[in-house]
Amino acid sequence: MRARLVAGNWKMHGSRQANAGLLDALRAGFGPRGAQPADDACAVCVPYPYLEQVAARLAGSAIAWGAQNVSEHPSGAFTGEVSAAMLAEFGCRYAIVGHSERRQLFGETDAQVAQKFAAAQAGGLTPILCVGETLEAREAGRTEAVVDAQLEAVLASSGAAAFARAVIAYEPVWAIGTGKTASAEQAQAVHAFLRGRLARQDAAVAQAVRILYGGSVKAANAAAIFAMPDVDGGLIGGASLVADEFLAIVAAAQAQTAST
Ligand code: PEP
Repeated sequence: MRARLVAGNWKMHGSRQANAGLLDALRAGFGPRGAQPADDACAVCVPYPYLEQVAARLAGSAIAWGAQNVSEHPSGAFTGEVSAAMLAEFGCRYAIVGHSERRQLFGETDAQVAQKFAAAQAGGLTPILCVGETLEAREAGRTEAVVDAQLEAVLASSGAAAFARAVIAYEPVWAIGTGKTASAEQAQAVHAFLRGRLARQDAAVAQAVRILYGGSVKAANAAAIFAMPDVDGGLIGGASLVADEFLAIVAAAQAQTAST
């Protein structure tokens, strides 16, 4: 049984004042550590400057936190970059790597994402590796080829065993922030493909790794997507900024964990 995980991606949103209200509502809604059927069921990935605030407000809660990016370098003359070790100092458990916005808007390559994945692990963090195809690629029938290449870059550099300490997020680019969600069946097909791809190298790791779906998940569609056998939760953008909505999505995932 894979315990479901729901991770919020705040993107470049927030203010100290708005965060305080959101975090307190999440904390109150989710309860203290040990109150949930599975630990490690909920996380928020926030902008770097808010990590200290998040660490202070979520300390002792069952909610983990992380960053939305990490440098591929351990330290050095890399102006504006933030290392995994720095994130670990703020209590981060997770770092998102290879989000499609980073790939598309900041030119991150598969090779660079693979380096970030390795750097996150070397710094004691659990990478959430994002993969996903554009609408153009889907329409050209290249979905599997695209996610395969994105996964393969990490497999080639870190090996399949590294996925024992990682999370994968399948996020079709055409579904992110657009209100268009992949159908539960479309998500399941790609998740099964990714798990099968990993299983060719390490069946046990493939069976255990959590593969999240991301792309316009809301409270209204979460349960149907999370009911799919290879969908182990979600990576949630816009809806993670609204406490009731995010808590309802977490509850939908928890219900699946409890029923399997
Ligand atoms: C995301 O940014 O990872 C995401 C899934 O966004 P949204 O839920 O807003 O589509």
